Amino acid sequence: MSSLLIKNGRIIDPSSNVDQVGDLLIENGKVSRIDRGIQAHGTPSLDASRLIVAPGFVDIHVHLREPGREDEETIESGSQAAAAGGFTSICCMPNTEPINDNPTVTHYIVKEAERRAVTRIFPIGAISVKSAGEKLAEIGEMVAAGAVGISDDGKPVMNGQLMRRVMEYSLPFKIPVIEHCEDLNLSAHGCMNEGYQSTVLGLKGISRTAEDTMAARDLILAELTGAHIHIAHLSTRGTQDLMREAKRKGIHATCEVTPHHFSLTDAACCGYDTNTKMSPPLRTEDDVNALIEGLADGTIDCIATDHAPHNLNEKMLEFDRAPFGITGLETALSLSLTRLFHTGKIDLKRLIELFTINAARIINKPLGTLSIGTEGDVTLFSTDAEWVYDVNQTKSKSRNCPFHGMKLKGQVAGTVVAGKIVYRNEELLLR
Ligand SMILES: [Zn+2]
Ligand SMILES: [Zn+2]
Repeated sequence: MSSLLIKNGRIIDPSSNVDQVGDLLIENGKVSRIDRGIQAHGTPSLDASRLIVAPGFVDIHVHLREPGREDEETIESGSQAAAAGGFTSICCMPNTEPINDNPTVTHYIVKEAERRAVTRIFPIGAISVKSAGEKLAEIGEMVAAGAVGISDDGKPVMNGQLMRRVMEYSLPFKIPVIEHCEDLNLSAHGCMNEGYQSTVLGLKGISRTAEDTMAARDLILAELTGAHIHIAHLSTRGTQDLMREAKRKGIHATCEVTPHHFSLTDAACCGYDTNTKMSPPLRTEDDVNALIEGLADGTIDCIATDHAPHNLNEKMLEFDRAPFGITGLETALSLSLTRLFHTGKIDLKRLIELFTINAARIINKPLGTLSIGTEGDVTLFSTDAEWVYDVNQTKSKSRNCPFHGMKLKGQVAGTVVAGKIVYRNEELLLR
């Protein structure tokens, strides 16, 4: 259990309405004091002058490829990439090999994380056996082993009756049912957004309707069952309108948006770069504008990366044959600062809320806060440092990222988990 004194930073904690310049003391791994001029002799300290001191960031949507595809990512390398991106907690999706659809795999991830990860790692269990959408997985036992939510992410739950059953079953466990909203009949093996760009490129499109109809079904089922539905990587104006209406009606519905969906449009696919291929696909400018409105007005609860590492050889295929997904842990905060904060669309308090307390609440963990007595997880960042993302410097084992070479404004300076510095940007973080 580590202790650390972080001095002279601008401490912003939306969960307790704190925004002040001062010192933050972590003792024995927990937040113990926020004040000016704290003296703590013998405690290691660091100077956070000109930096923002925020609660540790929580990413509820990450793909670590362990077990099964350790060539693409491991629990250890994924957690290091997370720390470099300012995340102190991440949730890992179950589509590993084998799939995390039983407590043995869940237990393996929890134990491996304890041994090797530098951040906290919370597994998400599968909804159905092998995520095949036919039979419910051992949800209760996975929750007992440490799963904080359930999802067949990568695949939608196509069977509405199974979705209803899993929602009913999830209630006593108080866990979110996380859905990758996509009607596979409507998306029909498309590889990018259906519209002008897909026509120009001669690629098969995925209509926005594929997402919207599935989201509508899930929200109706959540209303019927009272379950907590969480819509992953929301990408369309249509689904956002449905979310807004669902919240107005009091349905227990939350959602996340990825940095790539609010930073890029389907025009980015014009060079057939497979690092612009992900599911759901990049959408249109109208959708991007809708997402930014939703991030500002509270319709969207949190930002999550959907970090999806892939082997270089697999991404070096033709656009329609390459796998979906990009890496995103290390660029998430900088993209958000560049596209949302520096453009005046949202303020810092809201931005931090989207990365911290709101994400933590979805998985029912007392994280994402600097309240006294809580875990001493802290993210330090500069809003103004300008830098260029170089994917060759990544801590991830994979390099499938469309943001390589992009100039960004705002950068992670340091990441602290339970009072221990797990990532340090030497240029920004003074001793
Ligand atoms: Zn997905
Ligand atoms: Zn995903």
